[in-house]
Amino acid sequence: MSQVVYITESEPSTSIDISQTQPDWMHPQLIQSTDPTKGRQFRASGLIPKGACLLVDRPYAVIPVVDEPATNDNLICSNPACNRRAPRHSASARNPCPNACIADVIWCSDACRDADKDRHAFECTWLKRYAGPIRAKWGEYDFGMLWVIVRLLAMRQSQLQHVDSGTSTSPSPKKWKYGWEGIDSLCGSADTWSHDKVRAWTTLVKKYLQNGPVLPHGMTSDRVLHLICQEEANSFGLYPRATGVVPLPYPPIDRGEQFAAAVYPIAAIANHSCLPNITHKPDEQGRMVFTASRDIVPGEECCISYFDLTQYTALASRREHLRQSFKFVCQCERCLSEEPADEPTEWNAMPMMDL
Ligand SMILES: [Zn+2]
Ligand SMILES: [Zn+2]
Ligand SMILES: [Zn+2]
Repeated sequence: MSQVVYITESEPSTSIDISQTQPDWMHPQLIQSTDPTKGRQFRASGLIPKGACLLVDRPYAVIPVVDEPATNDNLICSNPACNRRAPRHSASARNPCPNACIADVIWCSDACRDADKDRHAFECTWLKRYAGPIRAKWGEYDFGMLWVIVRLLAMRQSQLQHVDSGTSTSPSPKKWKYGWEGIDSLCGSADTWSHDKVRAWTTLVKKYLQNGPVLPHGMTSDRVLHLICQEEANSFGLYPRATGVVPLPYPPIDRGEQFAAAVYPIAAIANHSCLPNITHKPDEQGRMVFTASRDIVPGEECCISYFDLTQYTALASRREHLRQSFKFVCQCERCLSEEPADEPTEWNAMPMMDL
């Protein structure tokens, strides 16, 4: 964030320079490299001590978990420069859309609503027309997925407008890809997912996400389908407590209830390990924060856990969960060390995905 205008000490900034979408912090020893099987990955170029903050990455798109907006304590401010959680008991922190699109859309203040006017205009008509029918026919999961896609497209649109109006984008040092460029290079394609899934998503794109007056994104339906394949492989759930704490505390403390889902251009590079050296947790602005949970030596890969380690503990349950949700068979050091010695390994040729 380049221009932080503090109204009072605690007042958040309400405007964001959308062309500036790089992370707010990256550890100088955190580098990107490529592994022949896993694809992109994070590595340490020098010693990163335990407790060091590796990354603070801004979501390119984030939505609240959308089950019951009226009783949900977890709505978040729609302004991308804010993303703060807006509790239900605080009426002043829940400014609804003047166009009454959906109850899940709120801003924490008038200032946030005004600052977010143009970006929200892109999604407002779509939400008003399709949120009800999609929820009724396809359910909350698919609605949330499509809304994330619409928010990705809305942010891209804002970013393009900024570039067109001559705002210079910051050069990307060390070949990090920020903003839409980062979303564009996320792993995942139609080949990643089952034919049934891809067929269902194709139908959803045709019905709800085509370029047109309701959603003027200018992209082909194939590209939007590809974006769903990427989003499904790379989105993060946002939970109140850290994910990937090792060793497991006793008694185990889970990460809590999911309150949002988001796509991060840089954080998505992290691969999974069932014995991760990084914990991840969103901060109060929905930014994803990576913290070293032990000393990380030069050359070592920096990994997160894609799931709550307190939930899947046995080798078989971890592998099954990862295979189903992320389409790879985990070969991390913990999984390999827990494999029964007399059983032949069922190696799977499927490449490991970023997230
Ligand atoms: Zn706000
Ligand atoms: Zn609206
Ligand atoms: Zn594993």
